[in-house]
Amino acid sequence: MRYYSTNKQAPTADLQKAVVKGLAEDRGLYMPEHIKPLPKEFFDDIDRLSFQEIACTVADTFFGEDIEKEELHRIVCDTLQFDCPVVSVTDSIYSLELFHGPTLAFKDVGARFMARLLQYFIRRESNHKNVHVLVATSGDTGSAVANGFLGVDGIHVHVLYPKGKVSPIQECQFTTLGRNITAIEVDGVFDDCQALVKSAFMDEELNRHLMLTSANSINVARFLPQAFYYFNAYARMKALGKADRLVVCVPSGNFGNITAALFGHRMGLPISRFIAANNANDIFFNYLRTGIYEPKPSRQTIANAMDVGDPSNFARIYDLYGGDHAKITQLISGATYSDEQIAETMACCHRETGYVLDPHGACGFRALSEGLQEGEYGVFCETAHPAKFRDTVERIIGEEIAIPERLAEFMKGKKQSVEMSKDFADFKRYLMAL
Ligand SMILES: *Cc1c(COP(=O)(O)O)cnc(C)c1O
Repeated sequence: MRYYSTNKQAPTADLQKAVVKGLAEDRGLYMPEHIKPLPKEFFDDIDRLSFQEIACTVADTFFGEDIEKEELHRIVCDTLQFDCPVVSVTDSIYSLELFHGPTLAFKDVGARFMARLLQYFIRRESNHKNVHVLVATSGDTGSAVANGFLGVDGIHVHVLYPKGKVSPIQECQFTTLGRNITAIEVDGVFDDCQALVKSAFMDEELNRHLMLTSANSINVARFLPQAFYYFNAYARMKALGKADRLVVCVPSGNFGNITAALFGHRMGLPISRFIAANNANDIFFNYLRTGIYEPKPSRQTIANAMDVGDPSNFARIYDLYGGDHAKITQLISGATYSDEQIAETMACCHRETGYVLDPHGACGFRALSEGLQEGEYGVFCETAHPAKFRDTVERIIGEEIAIPERLAEFMKGKKQSVEMSKDFADFKRYLMAL
């Protein structure tokens, strides 16, 4: 499969190049040249297949031309060592729980898949050397990437994070791992971390010395595998007899997760329509309303993983529908909620159903509660476990919540980190010594 850039000013790339480089030369996002539909028979019988079986078929469609079937299926099964179940919240609204992975958020799926795909490419090269992944994080991405790559041979991950600006729950998920993961505590803010990573990718001497790659969320190997769980959600809803008019609602920030769902739809997944639920960062919502895409500085909210003022994957959605605003609004509607509305939804849902939402999932649940029509069923993504936002959630629902075992384990671990100034010369010296 060839991948083209959404900016159309760069040469196409093969899968390996698209994964290792992440971004095209013209700074556009890579898109597969073809999205092959799956046969109707696959959907007729899908409810009899397991999550892993479904995911393997979907993976064949995306990556089958580039990786031997057996290897690909091994990568998929190794990635999906946890379930993504649909759980009933009300009679018509179901939660697609994407928090059963190692760091309790959906990003585990993409990060684990990308780590294994990268390892496959390294092994295939005859003169393979170690690959170094550089990732800057303000919290959540670092933990998903670090844990996704943990123990993967031939790859070392360096997570740069701003000292004192990451919550203790987030910090412990990438500073206690050891092995092939190094946490780098930068004396600065998130933007300084990102600037260090960018400078490293542009430094010729460094790139001759080390094989460097990024693992950011616009990477095709991170966002495409997220389609797996939408097919599975459809299958499980079909088994319940509730899939005929299915609405999928995705709490969205950078719009990678919903883009994966839209790829699924293009492959024939019978979803009636989609809702992109936003917090107060309403750029996409406004685009749907006006046809004008106007990025804004991001606003801080209690659903902070969605605090994005210029969602990168908008370019992919725009490209997928040839920039046709009418087509996009026909299939996707939007919602935007203030912190007060998010909190009210969490409290109300807990009181009336007993289900504990995290602030991101709450946007999804609310959009379905307000937007479902007679005869429709809805599935929203519960993108993270509420315990990841423990203080906020407990304050709102007025109750203590249980901390899952794997999160408690992280919190018991011993923190290890390398201290670093925000001066690139220091960071370069550190990398050159590897
Ligand atoms: C990353 C993230 C989101 C936003 O997902 P996008 O793919 O960027 O739209 C939502 N919720 C949580 C918990 C996240 O970590």
